[in-house]
Amino acid sequence: AAERTSLFIFFGGTGDLAYRKLYPSMFNLYKKGTLREHFGVIGTSREKLTDEQFQQNVLKSLGTAKTDKEALKFVSHFGYEAHDVTDKAHYQVMKKRADEMDKKFKLNGNRIFYLSLAPSFFGTVAGYLKSEGLTDTDGFDRVVIEKPFGRDYDSAQQLNDALSKSFDEKQIFRIDHYLGKEMIQNIEAVRFGNTLVESLWNNRYIDNIQVTLSEKLGVEERASYYDNSGALRDMVQNHIMQIVSLLAMEQPVSFTDVDIRAEKVKALRSLRVYNVAEASTNFVRGQYGPGDDQRAYRDEDNVPHDSNNDTFVAGKLLFDNYRWSGTPFYIRTGKMLADKFTRVDVVFKKPLIDIFSFPQNHNAPLEANVLTMYIEPHAGFSLRLNAKTNGQGFQTEPINLDYFVDAKDSKATPEPYERLIHDVMKGDGTNFSSWQEVSYAWRFVDQIRKVWDLQKPEFPNYTPGSMGPAAADELITRDHRQWVYRL
Ligand code: NAD
Repeated sequence: AAERTSLFIFFGGTGDLAYRKLYPSMFNLYKKGTLREHFGVIGTSREKLTDEQFQQNVLKSLGTAKTDKEALKFVSHFGYEAHDVTDKAHYQVMKKRADEMDKKFKLNGNRIFYLSLAPSFFGTVAGYLKSEGLTDTDGFDRVVIEKPFGRDYDSAQQLNDALSKSFDEKQIFRIDHYLGKEMIQNIEAVRFGNTLVESLWNNRYIDNIQVTLSEKLGVEERASYYDNSGALRDMVQNHIMQIVSLLAMEQPVSFTDVDIRAEKVKALRSLRVYNVAEASTNFVRGQYGPGDDQRAYRDEDNVPHDSNNDTFVAGKLLFDNYRWSGTPFYIRTGKMLADKFTRVDVVFKKPLIDIFSFPQNHNAPLEANVLTMYIEPHAGFSLRLNAKTNGQGFQTEPINLDYFVDAKDSKATPEPYERLIHDVMKGDGTNFSSWQEVSYAWRFVDQIRKVWDLQKPEFPNYTPGSMGPAAADELITRDHRQWVYRL
């Protein structure tokens, strides 16, 4: 791979995300040659550490032997500065350190500021980076931020205004790690690379599309964050909206970030924003109760006993445009469900006339074709077709054409963060959320939230190990349809 040159400053550099995901992903890029001689890293957080201590911590996070030569060489590019992000004076110290690193590793003034911090700090950090001159270099300056991007439209806009004072939209990379997943990127390849698929990709031939992000675990240690967020904010506003916009968008003029984003935004603009009655009918929320060896959500550590937080959400989305009018998108996500997986099921319409099922033939009615995209854990596709059953007579049965990424390839699949960090170095915003996408997603989600806040839910309403509350099934059966994945 071509070597890329940049200084990285990781704010929140001693956090869980940094050690668990960011440094190991950087190390993968190092092993592949994307990072080589000309990169430097400054970790910063409140914790007091020496450079050596920080390097040891990073080394440990890589999971290599302590004496691994490549790993030791990699961490020799790392330095550390203890720093309170609200302390203006300290940015001068950071600037000095950044300039030193720039010289030492010949970084051409390229800088990536990675804010792996609570979003309440984004504005402060961005402001000081600019006012204290850390962005005054000849190279590029880019800022990477983690979710959550606000908790509603208004707070997201405030956050964006604060960031926009120091960085313009082209310089801001909003992480949605689902966009770094191989099979999510494959949605575009499968749609726009195949006449067979794209020519049928509309309301004439598709009956409905289903997106499921199912988690098997409960809230774990993230309860205090999660209880203030819930499934709607934590999963639907970002990941599900991103997946849905890739499924719904028109073909981009070219395969570049600007053109792809334009189409995603256009799709999101035609997503129907619900009124109170529509939101109540078309969205279902859930919270898990106790299971066999499982406490109820309300009994989890750091969750209030009367919490009305949603650990599950299912909904029906409608696009008011020529391509999708009349073809709903059903979505669902939740914790403590039957299994851990993400998949998209595209259900095609049945043939208008079923010539095989007549009384003398006793054939079961034809089934709908389904294209399933398995996103994780096993990446692959499956296409369900009707075929003749082998043997005498003329019966039909559904068969599946399957393709799964094999174990060797899936081991070589880049981690989402590896791909996304690489994209930031290239300056490619394709797999990040633009402000417009974020804002249209909030506009839609806020409306659901507003309606929920008016009504007291009957929680808990689903059992761990199920696929959510009964109402999530009713949501689709009342339209005379079924979830393709069901227990
Ligand atoms: P964390 O609590 O483990 O780490 C936070 C870091 O920020 C620590 O290094 C801490 O020292 C530093 N920090 C806090 N206040 C500071 C201050 N005033 N000055 C300087 N440093 C300060 O958090 P995390 O789990 O690593 O998450 C970081 C960000 O990434 C958050 O925005 C979070 O929402 C997001 N995120 C995390 C995950 C994950 O899996 N951990 C997933 C998605 C998004």
